[in-house]
Amino acid sequence: MSSHTALVWFRRDLRLHDNEALVDACGADRVVPVYCFDPRGYGQQPYGGPDSFDVRKTGLHRLRFRLESVADLRSSLRDRGSDLVVRIGRPEAVLPDVATAVGADSVSMHTWPTPEERQVESAVQQALDNVGVEPRRFWGHTLTHPDDLPMDLDALPDTYTTFRKAVENDASIREPLHTPELPALPDSVPEPGEIPALSDLDEDVSNAAQAEDEPLASPNNEQATPSEQAIPLFEGGETAGRERVESYIWEGDHLREYKETRNGLVGRDYSSKFSPWLNEGCLSPRYVQSEVERYEDVRVSNDSTYWLTFELRWRDFFQFQTAKHGGEFFQRSGIRNRTDIDWRDDDAQFDRWAAGETGIPFVDAAMRELNATGYVSNRARQNAASFLANNLRLDWRRGAAYFETQLVDYDPASNYGNWAYIAGVGNDSRDRYFDIVAQARRYDADAEFVTHWLPELADLPPEYAHEPWKLTDAEQADYGVQLGIDYPEPMVDLDASYEKLD
Ligand SMILES: Cc1cc2nc3c(=O)[nH]c(=O)nc-3n(C[C@H](O)[C@H](O)[C@H](O)COP(=O)(O)OP(=O)(O)OC[C@H]3O[C@@H](n4cnc5c(N)ncnc54)[C@H](O)[C@@H]3O)c2cc1C
Repeated sequence: MSSHTALVWFRRDLRLHDNEALVDACGADRVVPVYCFDPRGYGQQPYGGPDSFDVRKTGLHRLRFRLESVADLRSSLRDRGSDLVVRIGRPEAVLPDVATAVGADSVSMHTWPTPEERQVESAVQQALDNVGVEPRRFWGHTLTHPDDLPMDLDALPDTYTTFRKAVENDASIREPLHTPELPALPDSVPEPGEIPALSDLDEDVSNAAQAEDEPLASPNNEQATPSEQAIPLFEGGETAGRERVESYIWEGDHLREYKETRNGLVGRDYSSKFSPWLNEGCLSPRYVQSEVERYEDVRVSNDSTYWLTFELRWRDFFQFQTAKHGGEFFQRSGIRNRTDIDWRDDDAQFDRWAAGETGIPFVDAAMRELNATGYVSNRARQNAASFLANNLRLDWRRGAAYFETQLVDYDPASNYGNWAYIAGVGNDSRDRYFDIVAQARRYDADAEFVTHWLPELADLPPEYAHEPWKLTDAEQADYGVQLGIDYPEPMVDLDASYEKLD
């Protein structure tokens, strides 16, 4: 009997646990794991569609996280006697090449419903067909498998609550799969290839990385580097992801009070911080869910444990929404086809928002944390996004694209889904603008968050730290914060901009 050789193509599923594509490939006699750094995912690329603009696809934080994740995966595979073939190149060119070189019969892979990922998959499918190699596709990045949904994707509700109730009542979550035994590499295995350096993928990002350890130009924090200010430091890879599950859920016992702490703004443990690992696929959501259930069995089952699953279902919701709506999800008028909103383009205003120089401290702190670390809390994301989309009425897709570059936990469905929702063009949307000062007072009562990221405001009492434009000239002199010099004047009158929305 002839022996069977399979490739497994790793994408945003950089793990050995609960990986159906890997399990499938490991049914063969020989397996070659492959990862491609696709040049279309790096550097400046067009957004696409009408009114396009350029977007840097992957910024420093995610790029670094991904390189670490690929290195961790290679090391785990080597520990099991296998390896990871790494190439810079389009998968539709690399995979047929490697498959032909090793005489593979099939390529196992995970599938994603988003347009760019789908386009790549179609090209791969075509290229593999041309060389007579079978593509085998699996779905593995959601809690609920689409085959277990209680409705067809076309009939998926566009409101979260209806979706959640349906899956809570009528869909089960599959058990995570075990890590399989790795069959040996074939004799003719190609050169494994080096894991690239930052500069191989994006020269500008690499230069920015070199500049990163420059001290921050801020009067009160002259010696602090961005990495010292950054609270959550994310290390890529399945190993670090599993350690985070261990430390957040078990050692720290934080799941017990997640529902009460999840709106926090400063610190490592107010929320799980699982998102970067979930989105690069270093953690499977079903594995996280199985740990939540184990915790419920052995420690406590309460509103907080329920709420983590509730949030993972939000993640599922947006994944299935992109499967349902495709490209519309990423268009300016959104899935609701809202053509009545007059979106503006203003580069100078956009740049102030992106740099955290709007003069609205709650927004600026969010943007500076995002720029420095690649992560920012959900509460702060909502406010920063609402300011751009609702107060400035700048094209929300540009804001979302900026998040795409910067976020360490970027995921197309979660990012564009949340942005569209806030911009009033997406799921569940009424007009969802946030009263930013009220939010700041409520969630950052002692101004710890804004003064952490805007040290120039550190000497102000909290009410002024949130609204420095209320300082009189004499108070500015007393506190040593001169508006327009130490910290910007607000770029819009917030109250007047809310009135326009009503
Ligand atoms: C404008 C905007 C953009 C966003 N972009 C992204 C993105 O690109 N990638 C991303 O994973 N999340 C995104 N989110 C959702 C949310 O902010 C992050 O998932 C969350 O802050 C991650 O931190 P955590 O892992 O500690 O979350 P936790 O509060 O611990 O939640 C656990 C998990 O649930 C999921 N989750 C929680 N809230 C949401 C949500 N609103 N939508 C989808 N999934 C959710 C995440 O996978 C998260 O890791 C965005 C939110 C907004 C408002």
